[in-house]
Amino acid sequence: MNVLVLNCGSSSVKFQLIATDLDLIAKNADRKLARGMIERIGGEAIITFRAEGRPPQRFASAVRDHRAAVDQILRWSCSTEANIDAIRSVADIHAVGHRVVHGGERFTRSLLITDEVLRGIEDCIDLAPLHNPANIRGIMAAREILGPGVPQVAVFDTAFHQTLPEHAYLYAIPYQLYRRHRIRRYGFHGTSHRYVAYRYRTLRGIAREQTDIITLHLGNGCSATAIKRGQSVDTSMGLTPLEGLVMGTRSGDIDPAIVDFLAAKEGLTTQEVEMLLNKQSGLLGISGLTNDMRELLDEAREHDDRRARLAIEIFCYRARKYIGAYLAAMGGADAVVFTGGIGENSPDVRARICAGLEWMGLELDQEQNLAHTNGREGLISRDGARLAAYVIPTDEELLIARDTVRCVLAAEEH
Ligand code: AMP
Repeated sequence: MNVLVLNCGSSSVKFQLIATDLDLIAKNADRKLARGMIERIGGEAIITFRAEGRPPQRFASAVRDHRAAVDQILRWSCSTEANIDAIRSVADIHAVGHRVVHGGERFTRSLLITDEVLRGIEDCIDLAPLHNPANIRGIMAAREILGPGVPQVAVFDTAFHQTLPEHAYLYAIPYQLYRRHRIRRYGFHGTSHRYVAYRYRTLRGIAREQTDIITLHLGNGCSATAIKRGQSVDTSMGLTPLEGLVMGTRSGDIDPAIVDFLAAKEGLTTQEVEMLLNKQSGLLGISGLTNDMRELLDEAREHDDRRARLAIEIFCYRARKYIGAYLAAMGGADAVVFTGGIGENSPDVRARICAGLEWMGLELDQEQNLAHTNGREGLISRDGARLAAYVIPTDEELLIARDTVRCVLAAEEH
């Protein structure tokens, strides 16, 4: 089955084309056919298309809206220019899988998109006012262009965390506010944490119920998840992705009283403060230089820039604190798993996060740590360490494609 995976943001659409079916899933032999991205939708867009095994094509072109973006992606995919063997016309696209950011409390797993599911995604707009409308635009665009005969599946970023127990998802604010507004911890990056947990148990040859790990997704957005017996039991992002770890431009945890204090001192509205905490904080805010960890590491190394060093230190300290907290919350774990752009590629950051955790049994193997970059998967702790460490590259698109196949086949059986 050829699946188009779409990840629609407010002004961007990322896609992948993946050939997969139950047999290929079992053999871990799914085929990536193409990928790409359209950024700055609504004006002169930057378009990157790449058929697997060939160099990327990058060009600018006016793209009016999400429908035009999806249209352009499909036209390119079927073109002689893309020259994808398996795809000669839109009839060769058999299903579409969508990343949907917020599924609220209603969606606990991936689902075939029916009118009712679509209404449910609309109902969650309140909780993700920037993201869910873009996801809906992507769903409508694919439906209009491919027709209602092509099944579409929603894969929710929040779904994996719906197993959190009450004591982990409730905030200590008046309970009726949870009842009235559904204010609680939802967590995000669920597809990534779930994928990495699946790869971990496959590598170890163990069952889901034996999977007791802490996953650290460290990219531009960052989150930690405590996974016990294969289920998410706590996670660092909250009602929104702002809570938890230090991120590229997000502050993560802060004293909530700062919001009002800042608003008064700087003459800002609370919305402006929230924007500041989302867009101008984190690594960027502390360093005053960049949200890019690679650049910060270079600055610290080459120029010994004090604030670059500080940003890296605060980032790593916060991650280490979460490891400790989750070990306590879970009653111990077997491994810490690093993923995301930073987690997969920076031995330096991994070493800083794990520094001083030897007492709890986590000892990195320096050589293995250095050797695991650029998509290499495996163990980076010393043989016999009580708490192991792994690098496992994430692949949310692959999991979305696989969920899409499973949902479509399950629906066909009924
Ligand atoms: P993501 O959002 O998962 O694509 O991750 C983006 C983040 O990964 C950025 O902060 C990048 O600087 C960081 N990153 C990518 N490669 C490296 C690297 N080799 N060393 C450190 N950080 C990296």
